[in-house]
Amino acid sequence: MWEQSEEIQLLRETVARASREKIAPLAQAIDAAGEFNREVEALCWDLGLLAMTFPAEFGGWERQQGTALCAAVEEIAKVCASSALLLIIQAVGSFPLVHGGSAELLAEVMPRITRERWLGAYLVTEPGAGSDVAAIRTAARRDGDGWVLDGTKCFATNGGVASYYCVLARSSKEGGHKGLSFFYVERDTPGLRVGKKENKLGQRGSNTTEVILEGVRVPARNLLGEEHHGFRLAMQDFDMSRPAIAAQALGIAEGALAEMLRYAKERRTFGKPIAEHQMIQALIADAATRIEASRGLVYRAAAQYDQGRRNTKLSSMAKYFASDSAMQITTDAIQVFGGYGYMKDYPVERMFRDAKLTQIFEGTNQIQRLVVARELLREIDA
Ligand SMILES: Cc1cc2nc3c(=O)[nH]c(=O)nc-3n(C[C@H](O)[C@H](O)[C@H](O)COP(=O)(O)OP(=O)(O)OC[C@H]3O[C@@H](n4cnc5c(N)ncnc54)[C@H](O)[C@@H]3O)c2cc1C
Repeated sequence: MWEQSEEIQLLRETVARASREKIAPLAQAIDAAGEFNREVEALCWDLGLLAMTFPAEFGGWERQQGTALCAAVEEIAKVCASSALLLIIQAVGSFPLVHGGSAELLAEVMPRITRERWLGAYLVTEPGAGSDVAAIRTAARRDGDGWVLDGTKCFATNGGVASYYCVLARSSKEGGHKGLSFFYVERDTPGLRVGKKENKLGQRGSNTTEVILEGVRVPARNLLGEEHHGFRLAMQDFDMSRPAIAAQALGIAEGALAEMLRYAKERRTFGKPIAEHQMIQALIADAATRIEASRGLVYRAAAQYDQGRRNTKLSSMAKYFASDSAMQITTDAIQVFGGYGYMKDYPVERMFRDAKLTQIFEGTNQIQRLVVARELLREIDA
């Protein structure tokens, strides 16, 4: 497909087949149960999808990690957004470790993570700090040859099913985003406990919880990246994750368009298939056009990431355009289905609920617009 290498093409075909045959039949039940699905997780490990962004010696892709992640996420999201999120959060949650962990720490933990098939989680958001990351209050205090963490994190994807966490905490009294650091914390560390599990509108098969840290002691080597520079690591993580969220939105939109087309040809009103009514055709054309534009943004942002070029502006553009498009397209898909679209018997209702989250997490779409404007203004000043 579209300017992509043979390896990516092969990956796409493999993931598309597994998604159709193994994940699609489970999607409705996963949504209804609102439970994390271990069968899908095992399938993703078997296919190597939960190690794609690890260093190559631990199962990661040698090159094109960003593009590979987006392609796999897109294919799974066509049938089940919750399952696609598993890949994203594994990549996001392990990023501070992979890119900030010392060689010594990686040599110690990466073999265990891959051998034991550990899931990761990313603990940044707090009840008082979402968009405003600089408002983080979870404290990291030096204590002898280590650190002690105290605070409450919320909305943690994989919070209750992860075996390790990358936690962003305030390591210096200096205000704002300057005094934050990331730490690697394993699940069984004394003082860490999983709190409330959220009951969500969509992407209900992903596990979202509170994680509470009370006197959690970690050795000095668990500091990820430079001390007090965790914010920078979080921003670098976004350059990989935002195209991936956009790919998830793209997949949801493509799934909805496929449903729309199939139904429009089947359903008849006024003596002909509704696909022959021009107002239905307009919805179909708009959806397909937005999908094509989203695809261009997603894979350009991912390609720039893979080439080590600054992709912050494109990542935010991709994230908000693809997710706003997915919301519009899933809304229109319900419209094409009429009353049936509002019922849980058809997947478009689930896709509509799943799409909403893509406008909110990894930075809301308001924040993405601020980033795009800031980057443009910076380019003009440069
Ligand atoms: C299902 C789910 C999973 C998540 N997974 C994770 C995870 O794994 N790890 C993690 O750390 N976090 C996670 N999050 C948190 C997510 O990233 C935050 O919810 C998000 O960044 C928004 O923060 P908030 O909810 O505190 O909203 P707020 O920051 O309170 O924003 C509220 C509203 O105000 C708007 N707003 C805020 N500031 C501005 C501004 N300057 N200009 C214009 N508008 C503004 C926002 O766009 C939004 O519309 C998850 C969230 C959800 C819902």
